[in-house]
Amino acid sequence: MISSRLLGAPLRTRTLLGVARFSSSSSSHIASSLETYNLPKPKLFIDNEWVDAENSSTMPVHSPINGQVISELANASSKDVDLAVRSAKRCFDDLANGTGGWPGSPPADRALVLDNMASGLRSRMEEFSHVESLDCGKPLAESRADIEACASFFEYYADLISKGGFLTAERLPCPEDGVEGRLLREPVGVVGMITPWNFPLMQAVVKVAPALAAGCSMILKPSPLSSMTCLMMGDLARDAGAPPGALNIITGGPPGPTNDDGESCGVALGRHKGLDKMSFTGSGPTGTALLHEGANLLRPTGLELGGKGAMVILDDADMDTVVDWAMIGIFYCTGQVCSATSRVVIDESLADEFCDRLAKAVAERLVVGDPLDVRTNMGPMVSADQRDKVLAAVKEAEADDRCDPVLEEPSASIAESADAGGYYVAPQIFRCKRGADGTWPKAWTEEIFGPVLSIGTFSPGDVDEAVSITNDSPYGLGHTVFTGDEARASAVATRLRSGVVWTNINQALYPSTPFGGCKQSGFGREYGELGIEDFCHHKTVISAKPGFSWGWYGA
Ligand code: NAD
Repeated sequence: MISSRLLGAPLRTRTLLGVARFSSSSSSHIASSLETYNLPKPKLFIDNEWVDAENSSTMPVHSPINGQVISELANASSKDVDLAVRSAKRCFDDLANGTGGWPGSPPADRALVLDNMASGLRSRMEEFSHVESLDCGKPLAESRADIEACASFFEYYADLISKGGFLTAERLPCPEDGVEGRLLREPVGVVGMITPWNFPLMQAVVKVAPALAAGCSMILKPSPLSSMTCLMMGDLARDAGAPPGALNIITGGPPGPTNDDGESCGVALGRHKGLDKMSFTGSGPTGTALLHEGANLLRPTGLELGGKGAMVILDDADMDTVVDWAMIGIFYCTGQVCSATSRVVIDESLADEFCDRLAKAVAERLVVGDPLDVRTNMGPMVSADQRDKVLAAVKEAEADDRCDPVLEEPSASIAESADAGGYYVAPQIFRCKRGADGTWPKAWTEEIFGPVLSIGTFSPGDVDEAVSITNDSPYGLGHTVFTGDEARASAVATRLRSGVVWTNINQALYPSTPFGGCKQSGFGREYGELGIEDFCHHKTVISAKPGFSWGWYGA
C-alpha cells in the first residue's frame, strides 16, 4: 500500500545468502521510546470521554519487537458496545430531529474538523510513528509514511466536500415540464468499523475520514493486536471539533478473552442492531461471519479482504527496476499486506536472471531487525500467532517437491532477534511449479500474509499463459505488470481480474485512487470519491411546483 505453466521448467538450485545483521539492542530502543512517548490508557472513547470498560476487564499489549508487555487495552463488553452505538445514534438522530447536528452540518464545517485532524496528526507525527512501530513492529520509515498518508486522507476528503462541492445536490434530468429531480448524498447513518493490524491507523482512517466527511457517526473497533494509534485518534477528533458520538473507539477481541456474556467486542459490534452499515477490513472468514450478521438484519456490509497478488514480468521488462518493485511487493510491512504481490509470474527466459538479482538484492539490501533502528527495512510479524502461521506455511513449502527454496536458512540476524523474544521471520523465496496432476503448491495459491514470495514461469513470450496463470486465483485485489511497452501493459491490465492493476509500478495508492477487490477479495471501494459514496445514502427528490397536477382521475 505505499505491492506459466511450470511443467518442464527446470528448478533453480538454492542460492546462498545472508541478510544484514541485527544491529542493536531492541530493548534500549523500546525503553527510550516508552520514556519519550505516552501510550494511551486502557480506556474506551465514548461520547468524547475516556471511560473504563464496564467490568474493568483489560488485555495485555505485547510489542512484536521483543514480546514485552508494553501496555493494556480495555476489553469492551456487549454493554460497552451498546453504549458506544447509542452515543453514535444520538449524534446521528440530530438529523431527523431537525436540529441538524453533525450529520446535518454544512460540509464546510465538517471539512474544518477534518483539516484540524490532519494538522493535529502532522504536529504529532513522531509520536504517532513511534507508537505505531512499537505496537505493530513496522520500521519507523514505514510508520512515518503511514501517518503522513493518514493526514493526506483527512485533507483529501476535507477538500472534496468543501471546494469540490461533492455533497451538493445533483440535478437529475426529468422529461416532464414543471418537474425537477435532485439526487442528495446524505450520510448513511451509524457505521460500525472493524479493522486489522497491518496498517493500524491507516486502515481506520480510510474509513473514518470519508465517513466523517459524509456526516456519519461511527464506532471504530481496531484489532487488539494494534489499537494504540487508533485510540490516539480519539483526542485528535475531539480537539479538532468533532462532537460527542461522531467518533467512538472501542477495543477488544477477537483474538482475546471473551467477556462474562461470552461475546467478544468485535462479535458484539457485528451483531448490534443499531448499525446502519458495517465496514470491515480483514480476513475472509471474519468477513463471511459479518456478512451473515448483516444478511440477518438486511444491512449493507463493505468487505475489504485478502489477496494473492501477482507481479507479471514480461520478456521486455526493465530488469534494473523490477527487483526493487518485487521487494516492495513482498517485504514491505513484512509481507503483511492484503495487496502484496506474493506471486511473481515471469517469462521463463528471464527467470534465472531475476532470481539471481533478487537473491543478491535481499542479501545486500534487506535489513531485518528492530523497527525502531533507522537502518531496519523489515521488522517482525505482528504477533507470535502470525509468526507461527507463516513458519508453518514455509515448512509446508519446504516439504513440497513443487517448491524449491531460492534463499538459504534463516540468517544469524533473525536468530538473534528471535532470541530477544521478538516475532521475527526470515524472508523466503520459492521457485514453484505445477505438479504432475497440474496443481500448484499451497505457497502459490494461498495467502500467507508474510515475507514469502513464490516465483512461477510462463512459456517464453506467451502473454495469454501469463494472464491465465495470474487470473487463476480465488482472489482479485492487486496485480502488477512490468513491460517496456506501455501499449502491451495496458492490454494486459484490461485482461486481469482484479480491483487494482498497476503497470511498471507496484503498491502505489493515493487518497484519490479507489481501492478494493473482486472475487473473494471483497466488495465495495475505499479511497477517492467512491470511498465516500460508500458512506452516503442516495436520496432522490422529485419536485413539482405547488398546484401541479396530472389530472389523472379528472381533477
Ligand atoms: P481478522 O479478520 O482476524 O481480524 C480483523 C478484525 O476483525 C480485527 O479487528 C478483529 O478483532 C476482528 N474480528 C475477528 N473476528 C471477528 C468476528 N467474528 N466478528 C467481528 N470481528 C472480528 O484479520 P486480521 O488477521 O486482523 O488481518 C489479516 C487479514 O486481513 C488478511 O487476510 C488480509 O489480507 C486482510 N486484510 C485485507 C485488507 C484489504 O484492504 N483488503 C487490508 C488489510 C488486511
